[in-house]
Amino acid sequence: MISKDKYRKILTVLAEFYPTAQTELVYHNGFELLVAVVLSAQTTDKQVNKVTPELFKHFATPEQLGQANLLEVESLINSIGLYRNKSKNIIKLAQIIHEQYHDELPTEKEDLLKLPGVGEKTASVVMGDYYHVPALAVDTHVARLAKRWDVVGDNASVEEVQKKLMELTPKKDWIVTHHRLILFGRYFCTARSPKCLNCELLTLCKYGKNRLKIK
Ligand code: SF4
Repeated sequence: MISKDKYRKILTVLAEFYPTAQTELVYHNGFELLVAVVLSAQTTDKQVNKVTPELFKHFATPEQLGQANLLEVESLINSIGLYRNKSKNIIKLAQIIHEQYHDELPTEKEDLLKLPGVGEKTASVVMGDYYHVPALAVDTHVARLAKRWDVVGDNASVEEVQKKLMELTPKKDWIVTHHRLILFGRYFCTARSPKCLNCELLTLCKYGKNRLKIK
């Protein structure tokens, strides 16, 4: 496994690459952020950003989205993956937010987790980005990088990845580190073609060294 020192060096390099990393999802309030994150599961942020302006133009508040016609919502977001299920979930979560929380986002993570379509990753992102509560959400990019850097073993679960990253990362940096890892994984250390030959992390990266057969 990677040492804490080496991992912290990786974080330093990433901080230089992405000093002000933040989500690429476009939103104007907490409700829009929550819906956008729910929609982003197994879909790119770019795809989500293409559908949300029209969605929020039609249904600007939890009350309006909660009363929306399912087929209409489906027609507005049908270019993204799993749109049928996501349509049901965002209507239902909008109803709950309107009825139980008076159109405000729940402030507790455990309450966010009870909403339809909201799992650990979504709740952590909302807690971090909206409430600024330290959270280090793990998505496919974050998990891949943690495995490539030997922070965790190849078979580690999402929960194990999250636990280990939170252990090694200063708590004050959890939120920005999540975004830095996503940007690095999305644009540089991609699943299919990581740019190892040009990577400043190569000497710290077990996967890259193995791939390029460097000792
Ligand atoms: S060396 Fe390759 S695998 Fe390792 S972090 Fe860089 S791009 Fe990713």
